Amino acid sequence: MAQACIFCEIAKGNIPSEIVYRDQRVFAIKDIAPRAPIHILVIPVEHEVEISGIRPSDESVLGHTIEVAGMIAKSQGLLESGYRLVVNQGEDANQTVAHLHVHLLGGRKLGPEG
Ligand code: AMP
Ligand code: ZN
Repeated sequence: MAQACIFCEIAKGNIPSEIVYRDQRVFAIKDIAPRAPIHILVIPVEHEVEISGIRPSDESVLGHTIEVAGMIAKSQGLLESGYRLVVNQGEDANQTVAHLHVHLLGGRKLGPEG
């Protein structure tokens, strides 16, 4: 049996989480270990493992993921101060959950990326 994916389990409602946005294609949750005053994960519902596995048919949902991140940034009052979107891929980026997701970070001065 494939190993359970924590974000798929959250999407199915099997693991509780603080959900801040949800539609049919994307959901967003508060990160359980926030690294900034605002740290939200925007997650496509469909399990996609890695950036290099993205197919042309994924473009729409990934575009929507960024669109939703922008909407949430606005609703969190980050438009003027700014914010950062991050996708970690693989070991050197410290990716811990193998289900493609976008971190939305804001609410403080962020250091240089990397
Ligand atoms: P990454 O390291 O890019 O794979 O990001 C995974 C993120 O998921 C980390 O920032 C974790 O803190 C976060 N995380 C792990 N489990 C949960 C959970 N149950 N609810 C919310 N965030 C989580
Ligand atoms: Zn998953």
